[in-house]
Amino acid sequence: MIARSDPPTRTRIAAEPETARLVADTITRLLDRINAISAGGPGWTRPSYSALESQAHRVIEEEALALGLTVSRDAAGNFLARMDGQDPSRPPLFIGSHLDTVSQGGAYDGQAGVAAALALIAALSARRITPPMDLVLIITRAEESVWFPVSYIGSRAHLGRLLSEDLTALRSDTGRSLSDHMRDEGGDPAAVLAMAPPPPAQFLEFHIEQGPVLAAAGEAYGLVTAVRGGLRYRQARITGQWAHSGGAPRGARADAVVAFCDLVMAMDRIWAELLAQGDDLTVTFGRVDAATPAHAMAKVAGDLGFCVDLRSENVEVLDRADTLLKSELARIEAERPGIAFALGTQSRSAPARMSGDVLARIERGAAALADQPRRMLSGGGHDAAAFASAGWDSAMIFIRNENGSHCPEEHMEIADLTRATLAVLAAIAGGWDA
Ligand SMILES: [Zn+2]
Repeated sequence: MIARSDPPTRTRIAAEPETARLVADTITRLLDRINAISAGGPGWTRPSYSALESQAHRVIEEEALALGLTVSRDAAGNFLARMDGQDPSRPPLFIGSHLDTVSQGGAYDGQAGVAAALALIAALSARRITPPMDLVLIITRAEESVWFPVSYIGSRAHLGRLLSEDLTALRSDTGRSLSDHMRDEGGDPAAVLAMAPPPPAQFLEFHIEQGPVLAAAGEAYGLVTAVRGGLRYRQARITGQWAHSGGAPRGARADAVVAFCDLVMAMDRIWAELLAQGDDLTVTFGRVDAATPAHAMAKVAGDLGFCVDLRSENVEVLDRADTLLKSELARIEAERPGIAFALGTQSRSAPARMSGDVLARIERGAAALADQPRRMLSGGGHDAAAFASAGWDSAMIFIRNENGSHCPEEHMEIADLTRATLAVLAAIAGGWDA
């Protein structure tokens, strides 16, 4: 057979139809099995550190054991499966993603990356290719920060970077702490805080694109050069004065909804100005709450809750946008007596550069399939950012995705993910050298 063939021959294996079929079949089976596990619809819901998330991890454990991989879990409950490489002294390549979802999310965000990682290992194993270094499939816990207001919980835990205050964060649906939920799913919070940082290695994540760039360009996959960082106020409030809609004259009102509109329009203008200067930025008011029982048709709103999410590849731009946001709040308060803003706690995630070396290796694998994937930015935060900021050589591959993300309508073609997986397979089979 092809067991001890030279690198160019092994690279060619990635282009053979039977390899593509094996990868596509494995991805399809894994997605079906994982997505059979969900709370009620629409869409797919597996909260961070829930029994459903753990059940999805066990599906991959079963599949990894069937491939003869060595499986383990760290103290935070991240799942790992190792395929031995030719040279144990080389830094391993971790490949993975997450299996928690937002509430009523899609069938691919996270799932696709885990399925591709295992399909890649399955194909190497079936074609009797021993990778140059160890490959470690990793499923990180709690990647979706909608459940706990903390970024990259599982990956930071694995990297020995989770803080004790992170463990006190409360899950949005249950009100119980991260510690409690971690313990429920077999983790050990005290041991997580004592975890030593592992030696920096390499990390790669396949993930659906969470924007329309690849779909619009008609391209199956692209390579991510940087992950935008974020600056958020998750629990901001505007206090005004409740009043009767027919009785309160215009000049006497302190209307929280109108003040909010002032803010949204001001930040939209500031966003356009910064973009026009060539800065990278997104501005989103992702949650607006003027629908509590206190609000009604015949009332001037005296209270409004909102969150604001600023993202950029550049920390300095985030800081500048934050300063402008605060000066707009002061201006609106001065112009509208009775209105008071309270931003609440700020949370941040740092922007992260992906590794040029790893990207170049994947590009070479892609070239073996006659592909030339574009280089692009990631707007969404991903675990790759946590690995990169811990000094790991990290990279991401985006897969074309239709109909938006974090919604039941997410749509990815298996063929696109297969193509990207084969590019990495070609790079690994060819020796993974820069
Ligand atoms: Zn994701």
